Amino acid sequence: MRRQTRRVMVGGLPLGGGSPVLVQSMLNVPIEDIEGNVAQAKRLAAAGCEIIRVTTPHPADAAVITALKQAVSVPIVADIHFDYQAALAAVEAGADKIRLNPGNIGGDDHVAAVAEACRARHIPIRIGVNGGSLEKNLLAAYGGVTADALVESAMRHAALLEKHDFGDIVISIKASHVPTVVEAYRKLSARCDYPLHVGVTETGTYRMGLIKSGMGIGTLLLEGIGDTIRVSLTDTPENEVRAGFDILRAAGHEVPGPEIISCPTCGRTNIDVAGIAERVEERMRGCKKPVKIAVMGCVVNGPGEAKDADIGIAGGKGCAMLFIKGRQIRRLDGDFVEEFCAEIERLVSE
Ligand code: SF4
Repeated sequence: MRRQTRRVMVGGLPLGGGSPVLVQSMLNVPIEDIEGNVAQAKRLAAAGCEIIRVTTPHPADAAVITALKQAVSVPIVADIHFDYQAALAAVEAGADKIRLNPGNIGGDDHVAAVAEACRARHIPIRIGVNGGSLEKNLLAAYGGVTADALVESAMRHAALLEKHDFGDIVISIKASHVPTVVEAYRKLSARCDYPLHVGVTETGTYRMGLIKSGMGIGTLLLEGIGDTIRVSLTDTPENEVRAGFDILRAAGHEVPGPEIISCPTCGRTNIDVAGIAERVEERMRGCKKPVKIAVMGCVVNGPGEAKDADIGIAGGKGCAMLFIKGRQIRRLDGDFVEEFCAEIERLVSE
């Protein structure tokens, strides 16, 4: 059961209010390289990314927003840290959402100007609290980066916008310690109905990043918390997006595209399960049909263990058995992976 949050619009996409959880990522090309940013945004759009964030620290950097808006139809978020003029320039350039912390932009008149500009164009503002940059007085009051300190910081920033009657707010409160992140989002979710951008930050290497994000984001999604997610990885943004959809799928959300399941392998394994599963995954990239595909190591247990798959193979000696919904169909010989992929493509095109 999803937690009830208010709905804001990001470009043409609803965020919150029970709408599908959106997967987002952030460009990591140097900001002055506009062509490079555009090329990466196109790759992200092709990977299915639903919201793209780009940093625009100075007003002149809004040029990248203009270029991105011309190149992709995915909503663009401008990431601002201290310069309210940069926020105004980003709004002017067509940004669909602004990420900034109102307490960091130099005073109430600056907050008023940004709130007014965003209100005029129906652009939401995400408040992004990060454990690494919590206010010193909160760190002192709460004895470090605690869930309560993160929530308090977010609510203070939100109050600065609420003062100007601005309510199209999205909030994130990230840290790298998963239990703190989970506790913080639970508390925040109980304190307000703003849509929540969920993520764990500074997660470390790719492998650890996947584990931490899967645990943190996954736990919250299972509790119905989270309206948009970003998997922060020290890796490509495209891989962040793929991981985001995989976490959503693992948490039981409907995600377009194939789901590959494969057995853990054992002494009965007859085929290269991992290699074949990766080959099939690569081949099916871009497919939007929800199809469950199984790659199983042996015919003894494979078809039975994967009977809820739409289609699968189970390994034999130099061959594979094709099965559909647990029913054995026929033996595939020779380059059976190629034949298997052709059968999947036939199934999804029906
Ligand atoms: S499907 Fe067969 S090969 Fe795979 S783990 Fe089960 S028994 Fe082993």
